[in-house]
Amino acid sequence: MRRKLAAGNWKMNGDATLMGELATLTQAQSSDGPDILICPPATLLAQAVQTTQNSPVSIGGQDCHTATKGAHTGDVSAQMIKDTGASAVIIGHSERRGDHHETNADVRAKAQAARAAGRLAVLCIGESEAERTGPDTLDIIAAQLDASMPDGATGDTLVIAYEPIWAIGTGRVPTQDQIIETHDMIRAELVKRFGAEGDAIRILYGGSVKPGNAAEIFTAQNVDGALVGGASLKAADFQPIIDALAAS
Ligand code: PEP
Repeated sequence: MRRKLAAGNWKMNGDATLMGELATLTQAQSSDGPDILICPPATLLAQAVQTTQNSPVSIGGQDCHTATKGAHTGDVSAQMIKDTGASAVIIGHSERRGDHHETNADVRAKAQAARAAGRLAVLCIGESEAERTGPDTLDIIAAQLDASMPDGATGDTLVIAYEPIWAIGTGRVPTQDQIIETHDMIRAELVKRFGAEGDAIRILYGGSVKPGNAAEIFTAQNVDGALVGGASLKAADFQPIIDALAAS
């Protein structure tokens, strides 16, 4: 049985107000709910770890370098994320792939670095709008997945986040049939690559998940939770999504 996961990506947002939201969210959780992961900017990782100590909320980074240390100004390694006490890291978000020209090979190397540092990698994949409307959508996503994944992944080391680029921050979501079909395909690819472990790897949906659409999205068999951007910034928005996941 895969544990459900509600993950929040704060992107380049994070201040005292948001840390207050994190404290509110943390206090509202009980130990029998879904797993919760919040990924603040690197500057707030240590403080966020402290705020969520001894709670069901864990903390992750938003990116890591492929190397453990060295001459890479402005970058953060998976080992440094580990040093803050954070347990996970988002890898290959479409904003990283777009803004920083990260290739599938780069993303795979980052996922390997996260694994070497013992951090859970939340690996993002997803198609552009042109790819969604074209004839080869599933093949394109499968190829991206295949080229981005680390070796020897297990349910404890890897989470896949399917995030259509056109759905991120736009208020648009795929149809439920498209979500089901895509997540089923990802599950089949994971099992093909990792055998029985592929069945233990959680698959999150991400892209404009809100309190109003979460419950329907979570009815899909291979949707094990969500990666949430905008609606993770306020406890009042994120909590109903967590509740919908708990009820699914
Ligand atoms: C994201 O940034 O990963 C994301 C899914 O954003 P939003 O929920 O705002 O669409």
